[in-house]
Amino acid sequence: MESAPLIVLDAVCKDYGALRVLSDISLNIRRGEVVCIIGPSGSGKSTLIRCINGLNSIQSGSIKVGGLEVNDEKLDKLALRKRVGIVFQQYNLFPHKTALQNVAMAPRIVLREKKGVVEARARELLAKVGLAGKEDAYPLELSGGQQQRVAIARSLAMRPEVMLFDEVTAALDPEMVKEVLSTIKDLAKDGMTCVLVTHEMNFAREVADHVYFMDKGVIVEHGPPDQMFVEAKDARTRRFLSQVL
Ligand code: ADP
Ligand code: MG
Repeated sequence: MESAPLIVLDAVCKDYGALRVLSDISLNIRRGEVVCIIGPSGSGKSTLIRCINGLNSIQSGSIKVGGLEVNDEKLDKLALRKRVGIVFQQYNLFPHKTALQNVAMAPRIVLREKKGVVEARARELLAKVGLAGKEDAYPLELSGGQQQRVAIARSLAMRPEVMLFDEVTAALDPEMVKEVLSTIKDLAKDGMTCVLVTHEMNFAREVADHVYFMDKGVIVEHGPPDQMFVEAKDARTRRFLSQVL
């Protein structure tokens, strides 16, 4: 039996002042699904994923994550933050904390878990993102790609059910893009539900179960990657892809 979708957006609208940034966005994401959101700069991709974990409020419509109504005023924000991890282009690690401390901090402070338990998990997570041996390194002693992988481990330390990635490789040198993408690919393979805003079209094509193309605040079209990248129906999608492929 098909289970209920983990993330449900229904007719979501979001304005910044007079500007409508998201217009009537509806989508469903199933548990374990890998979804890529592509589209030109300014089309609303970041706004959309920030709405999913409640960083941005919306004007109308509804967003549900695992049954939690994200825009319910009474929502326990911590419950949502635990469920939904987010990683940005800027990794924003604490510079005066080691990799291990960066990963262990939120579970210690927010979840009040025991130090030994949290540190053991932080070690495991650092190993999982390919950083065994770097536990005691400070961010400045790590490359951009390594710092971004610490940021991913930090997010995973909260045991999220969903991971949101907003152009996490956009600030990295090309040789580091691959290591970060391969970390995300491993997560996806392990069954993590992933929503990625990305300009890495080859990656999207290889890893995504479903691709959404956004332009000017609307979902223009969506479908499995083979359909989107080979036989997109809408002229806007085709034009965008011809510019980036
Ligand atoms: P993308 O991630 O696709 O580049 P964004 O979601 O960042 O697009 O932005 C969508 C639109 O919303 C843009 O026109 C942008 O200028 C506007 N925008 C984003 N954040 C803000 C904000 N905090 N205040 C006002 N306008 C914003
Ligand atoms: Mg963006």
